[in-house]
Amino acid sequence: MNEIPRRILRLQEELIALRHDLHAHPELGFEEQRTASIVAGWLKRHGLEVRAGVAGTGVVGTLRGEAGEGTVVGFRADMDALPVEEQSDLPYRSQHPGKMHACGHDGHTTILLGAAAVLAELRTQLRGAMRFYFQPAEEGVSGAKAMLAEGILQEMPPRWVVALHGRPGLPLGSVGVRAGAMMASADTFDVWLQGRGGHAALPHLTDDPIVAGAQLVQAMQTLVSRESAPSDPIVLSVTQFHAGNTYNVLPQEAHLAGTVRCLHEETRDRVRERVEQLVNATAQAWHLHGRFEWHKGVPVLWNDETVVARIAQVAEEAFGKERVTWLEHPLMGAEDFAHFAQAVPSAMFFLGLGEVADWHTACFDFPDEAIAPGVEMFVRLALAESGT
Ligand SMILES: [Zn+2]
Ligand SMILES: [Zn+2]
Repeated sequence: MNEIPRRILRLQEELIALRHDLHAHPELGFEEQRTASIVAGWLKRHGLEVRAGVAGTGVVGTLRGEAGEGTVVGFRADMDALPVEEQSDLPYRSQHPGKMHACGHDGHTTILLGAAAVLAELRTQLRGAMRFYFQPAEEGVSGAKAMLAEGILQEMPPRWVVALHGRPGLPLGSVGVRAGAMMASADTFDVWLQGRGGHAALPHLTDDPIVAGAQLVQAMQTLVSRESAPSDPIVLSVTQFHAGNTYNVLPQEAHLAGTVRCLHEETRDRVRERVEQLVNATAQAWHLHGRFEWHKGVPVLWNDETVVARIAQVAEEAFGKERVTWLEHPLMGAEDFAHFAQAVPSAMFFLGLGEVADWHTACFDFPDEAIAPGVEMFVRLALAESGT
């Protein structure tokens, strides 16, 4: 097993240069043409079979072990950047105005490419096959779902799929795990309340949607605080409230919109149903016409217990028990790896990035020192399943 760090060390310079290059050339969701061609080129150079152009810019690499039959296992990395203007003096800062790798997907892509290269060197010791899924558009536009729709799991069903996400604040190079809910679901909604507008001095001749809308916002917050167990957290945020355009006219319509985050699929269904009921009841109470739209987004990311146990075991063997943190709470952010986890037993773990700027900020930079431990985790996970 000691040969793994040695092999990673030999690749280290190349991987760091690769990460800096990806960081300098960030691409938004479904626009990852350059990144995808670098990924495909690297995988081919290391002798993997490559399927490119999956859901537009997705890439799947396949490495077949040469030590006989065995299971298929999968690893996933995301490649997209965010519409954020980078604020840094890094020599490899973003060269594309208004775009930046503010979530560290440059690091994730580099780590998975590093793991593919190391495992390719070890292919005579491997059974079965390894699949490397490089997905587009993790940030809000569900590239995972689009890739899965193209049958990437069915064509070679994996026993499990593992992904990692860098985590600021967790000790550098350590591993954070959690079984069950790891990240929340993320849905959005729109509400329209419509009725008679009119003179603001004659409110009794109107159906003021602003007062009704304000009550609806309060009612939705009460839903969170009074209908859900404190141990089953919900975030319901009304993030938009548009109505009216002058001082002395009550408008005909109010438009509200927002986001809902849950940790259980049943809770998610219940919140949707109750918000719709509140919209209809509020509209009816105040003679308004209510319209409600729910936009189903990313599901709860549910980490499979067995896969998590395996990740923890591998991390302890690699870095020591003290470098593995069992996370007490899930995050209320969402991750579209959840779509993989709905389809096959899967788990995402956090890779500690140490004291760096937070996710999605203009000065975030995935630390180079986190690359090697990330590669080592993926390599050891593959060897634990498929090594001879
Ligand atoms: Zn992100
Ligand atoms: Zn991310």
